[in-house]
Amino acid sequence: MIEIDGSLGEGGGQIVRSSLALSIITGKPFRIRQVRANRSKPGLLNQHLTAVNAAVKISGADTSGVKLGSTNFTFSPGPCVPGDYTFSIGTAGSTTLVFQTVLPPLMIANSASSITLDGGTHNPMAPPFEFLRDTFLPALQEMGVSVKANLKRYGFYPKGGGTLHFEIQPAETMAPIHLGEKGGIKSINAQALVVKLPEDIGHRELKTLKAKLSRLDHAKVTAVNEGVSQGNVVIVQVKTGALTETITAIGERGLKAELVADAAALETNQYLSNSAAVGEHLADQLLIPMALAGEGSFITSVLSSHTTTNIDVIQRFLDINIKTKQLGDSQWKIEVFK
Ligand code: ATP
Repeated sequence: MIEIDGSLGEGGGQIVRSSLALSIITGKPFRIRQVRANRSKPGLLNQHLTAVNAAVKISGADTSGVKLGSTNFTFSPGPCVPGDYTFSIGTAGSTTLVFQTVLPPLMIANSASSITLDGGTHNPMAPPFEFLRDTFLPALQEMGVSVKANLKRYGFYPKGGGTLHFEIQPAETMAPIHLGEKGGIKSINAQALVVKLPEDIGHRELKTLKAKLSRLDHAKVTAVNEGVSQGNVVIVQVKTGALTETITAIGERGLKAELVADAAALETNQYLSNSAAVGEHLADQLLIPMALAGEGSFITSVLSSHTTTNIDVIQRFLDINIKTKQLGDSQWKIEVFK
């Protein structure tokens, strides 16, 4: 049984999700203690509990200590069974993080899977749907994994009620990829999404973005009036020679539209100021796929504690080298090799 310390590095939910995914892939059981020790409410929250239960469903795992608030549990997986699954969080907890848990084993399984997830689709501190569809999944496609992503309903805090659907066609063998410099900026597009809120919010956000970005090729407001939750998100997509980066800022009650757009503009300008193609979030999310491919590399502008912590967790389960090397002031090269 592999012993995982949940207070390691970032000390958050990613340690739980990565451990679940890697345990199913390797068949190695694990015990985790001090789950999410560095968060204000430690232990398994609804979203993490759904991730553990989803991992149990796809692998027939035996567990002990799995319950809401638990800071210590064990997980002993059986073989991964691809198929049709629905996972409901029941709150506005992030659906994309539950997807992050089940995707790695399913993307190297021996047949296709179809996954429906109910809950939040746009949560702070989690990959928004557009990031998965346009930034993360295209990188996986290059590695040989084909995933069709569909948003059926938006889900925002606090009501949730969103639905995502994914069709996963696994890779026969995962191919390595190498992502270096941006290689030029092809386009910068923005969307202000307003769900069951005044459309004016979106127009004010675009006005701020136009003032703060030196280039914006195309900008639009998308107003949606369906679903149970209200919400707002500013999405900026930068298409480079290497990939499309998706930068998002999520609106909050009491937070001015201009400040939401400011946050998106700031992050976009930071991304543009560095020649590395891979942004902070893609960096930590590429590690498991690259480790499964047995090889890969990228240059990134931020070596986050999510990235370093994920490296540690991956190396507890897989016999793989992952080296980080600082290239400059804000540039790191991450290399994955056998
Ligand atoms: P907690 O730590 O409270 O359990 P959590 O379960 O949300 O929180 P974290 O460990 O903080 O988990 O991991 C968050 C994940 O979401 C990371 O993989 C991170 O890269 C990703 N992420 C966060 N914000 C964004 C964003 N704006 N775009 C894309 N991915 C994001």
